Amino acid sequence: MQLQPDESGKFGRYGGRFAPEVLISALDELEHAFFKFHEDKSFNAELDNLLRTYAGRPTPLYFAENLSSFCDPSGRVRIYLKREDLVHGGAHKMNNTLGQALLAKKMGKERVIAETGAGQHGVATAMAAVKLRLKCDIYMGTEDIERQRLNVFRMKLLGANVIPVDKGSKTLKDAINEALRDWVTNVEHTYYLIGSVVGPHPYPLIVREFQRVIGIETRKQIIEAEGRLPDVIVACVGGGSNAMGIFYDFIEDDVELIGVEAAGRGLHTGMHGASICAGEDGVLHGMFSKLLQDEYGQINQSYSIAAGLDYPGVGPELVFLAEQGRVKMTAATDNETLTAFKILAEKEGIIPALESAHAIHCAIKLAKKNRGREYIIVVNLSGRGDKDIFIAAEALAGETL
Ligand SMILES: *Cc1c(COP(=O)(O)O)cnc(C)c1O
Repeated sequence: MQLQPDESGKFGRYGGRFAPEVLISALDELEHAFFKFHEDKSFNAELDNLLRTYAGRPTPLYFAENLSSFCDPSGRVRIYLKREDLVHGGAHKMNNTLGQALLAKKMGKERVIAETGAGQHGVATAMAAVKLRLKCDIYMGTEDIERQRLNVFRMKLLGANVIPVDKGSKTLKDAINEALRDWVTNVEHTYYLIGSVVGPHPYPLIVREFQRVIGIETRKQIIEAEGRLPDVIVACVGGGSNAMGIFYDFIEDDVELIGVEAAGRGLHTGMHGASICAGEDGVLHGMFSKLLQDEYGQINQSYSIAAGLDYPGVGPELVFLAEQGRVKMTAATDNETLTAFKILAEKEGIIPALESAHAIHCAIKLAKKNRGREYIIVVNLSGRGDKDIFIAAEALAGETL
C-alpha cells in the first residue's frame, strides 16, 4: 500500500497540486520546511510539550462498558472511545493547528490566515495563534457568520480578526478562495493554515502527520487494555483528518478501517456531504479528489446536520485508501446520527459532537451484529457536543427524552 505521496504529491490518482503558478514556490517552501522540522528533535519536543500541557494529551481510550452491553448483552463486544472530545477546544482540530502554528513560527512567519465554515477550525486556529503569539486573520462567508455567531464571538475574544466574505454563496468555498488570494499576496510573512487533510500537496500530508498522534496513542492504549489490536476502527469523515489521524498507523495491520460520511437527509435526496460514497472525480481547492458536483463540474452545495461534515470535498489519501478497498466507506443520515447522539448521552454520560455521532451510529450497528465471538471496536470520538445542543434540541423537539 502506498503510504506516502509520490513526487507530484499524489496518492494513486488523487491529490497533487492544482494551484496557480505564484503559489507553487510557496508550497515548495512549505514542503521543504515541513520535512526539515518534522525530523527536528527540538521542534518535536516543543510540539509534544504543547500537546501535553496546553491541549491535554494524551487523551484517554475509554471502555464504554454500558454502551457495549446495551448493544451486546453477552459481553463479547467491547466498544472503546478515543476521547478527542477532551482535547482543548473540544475536538481533535487543535492537534493540527498547534502543529502548523508552531511550523509557521519556525518558518519565521508573523501571521497565520485560515478559512472556516462552521467556525470550529477558526477557533482552533485562533487559540494556537494566541498561544504562539502570531497575528491571526480568519476568512468566513457572511452567511456562515450569521449562522455561527457564537464561534465568531469566540474567535474575536481570542484576538483573531474575522474577515467577512460577501461573494458567491457566502459560505466556506468562497472563504477558501479569498484566503488563497490573501496568501498569494502576502506569502512572505503569512502562513496559510489548512484545517483538514485537503488542499494542494503538501497540506494533506502535513495535516495527517499532525493528527497521527491519535492513532499512535490508540495503538499503545488498546494493547495495554486488551493485549491486542482492535477488530475495527471507526471514524467520521468530513475532510478526513480525524479519520486519517487514527487510521494511518493501522494501515498495514489486520484491522478493519471504516469511514462514516454524512448522508444528511439521505444519499438519494442530494442533501448530504458524502463525497466518497456519492461524489465524482474533480478538482477543488488545489487537489484532485472526489467531490460533490453536477454534470458540468459545478460544485454542489453540501449539507449535514453536523457543520463539520458539511464540505463538498474530501482528502485525497482517504479517497485512495477507499479506492484500494483498504478503508471501507459508509454514511449515516441526520436521523441515525441523532439517535446515536442520544444513546451515547444516555448510556455513557458523554454528549458527542454531531460529527462524531455519525461514527457512533456505525459502531452501534456493528456491535449489534451477533458474531458469537469477541469483537473489539474503537471509535474516534472526534469532538464534544456542547456546540451542538441547540441544533439537537431543535431536531429532537417533540421527542420524549
Ligand atoms: C471538523 C470536525 C470534523 C470533521 O473534520 P475531519 O477533517 O473530517 O476530521 C469531525 N468532528 C469534529 C468534532 C470536528 O470538529
